[in-house]
Amino acid sequence: MIASNDRYDIARIRRDFPILDREVHGRPLVYLDNAATSQKPRAVIDTELRYYRTMNANIHRGVHLLSQEATDAYEASRERVRRFLNAARREEIVFVRGATEAINLVAASYGQRLKSGDEVLITAMEHHSNIVPWQLLCERSGAVLRVASINDAGELNLTSFEHLLGPRTRIAAFTHISNALGTINPVRELIEMAHANGAVVLVDGAQAAPHARVDVQALDCDFYVFSGHKLYGPTGIGALYGKARLLDAMPPWQGGGDMIREVSFNKSTWNDLPYKFEAGTPNIAGGVALSAAIDYVEDIGLDAIAGHENDLLIRANERAADFPGLRPIGTAKDKAGIFSFVLDGVHPHDIGTILDLEGVAVRTGHHCAMPVMGRFGVPATVRASFGLYNTRDEVDALFAALRRVKEVFA
Ligand code: PMP
Repeated sequence: MIASNDRYDIARIRRDFPILDREVHGRPLVYLDNAATSQKPRAVIDTELRYYRTMNANIHRGVHLLSQEATDAYEASRERVRRFLNAARREEIVFVRGATEAINLVAASYGQRLKSGDEVLITAMEHHSNIVPWQLLCERSGAVLRVASINDAGELNLTSFEHLLGPRTRIAAFTHISNALGTINPVRELIEMAHANGAVVLVDGAQAAPHARVDVQALDCDFYVFSGHKLYGPTGIGALYGKARLLDAMPPWQGGGDMIREVSFNKSTWNDLPYKFEAGTPNIAGGVALSAAIDYVEDIGLDAIAGHENDLLIRANERAADFPGLRPIGTAKDKAGIFSFVLDGVHPHDIGTILDLEGVAVRTGHHCAMPVMGRFGVPATVRASFGLYNTRDEVDALFAALRRVKEVFA
């Protein structure tokens, strides 16, 4: 039986996701790897299918009807993303492949103004995507990377962050929600602190967009990035929000079709925002289907989703409390539905393999956050990450499968 509470119709929601009907290794799929990527509702799959069946054409260039329809659908999706993030203007939404590409874009383009001795401040809980682009920038520019520390619960040390902010800090980049620990950062406060020091702020919203309501104007962040595929949308599409004033002053980062106004061998000039940053044919179908994903989550409501996932996290914590040898990694007070842990005497990869045979899909490894693993003195963790369609019974299935791991390694 599927557990549900009164207002959150989990049975109906699950019917929207065709993949949840399948079996793995002869058992019902229990998909708990949502922080890596989430499954897609029928509305998203159908939108992408309909796009290819009825209107596929290249955008922005064609005078023919299909091209106009495809352009309209793609641009309508941009407007949908604008509303989702509450950005002031559609020109502030740049379509990209995902969070990784968005951060690389900012590092490559905005980063050109950094000079030797300038500083970039990140935190010790960042995904590699929010570390390595800044390292590359520092290598190119001679800037210095500073890293604010985290405590044993996996919370950011605000004093460390504040202490490392200085007159040379040009960029502060931090995650909204940690993918490895689940920590929800006090982003509004961090943004204020960074702005008070004259730094621009990039917020990595890859994990936050599916779980929290984001209002970039209320946050007053300068850049916000997310990936569609973690938001129940397609892979290969995501968005960069940037304040128009900043984007306008930034140079293009990739050259090609669509990003130019005029090209000659002497000199080329750039297109308006946001196209200046969108060289080449994009993931049109993905862009169109992203708006179906946003409609889907907003229909359920991000607050309701966060409440449901928190319920699952509470259940997992209860089960974990009397599970011998289990150590949770990441116990922040303010936490999203990400449950990372290690088990005494069993390597996370072995746990993952046995869980898979029991039908339970989790992530094992360093979760692209090797410094986090180092901070907690573990090579890897097992991570169960909850999505809007998971149930309490599935949390119980995880722990039943973990008991099986215990038997195998007894
Ligand atoms: N940042 C965080 C916090 C993430 O969890 C991820 C994906 N695991 C990324 C960035 C990168 O996202 P993508 O691979 O979709 O570009």
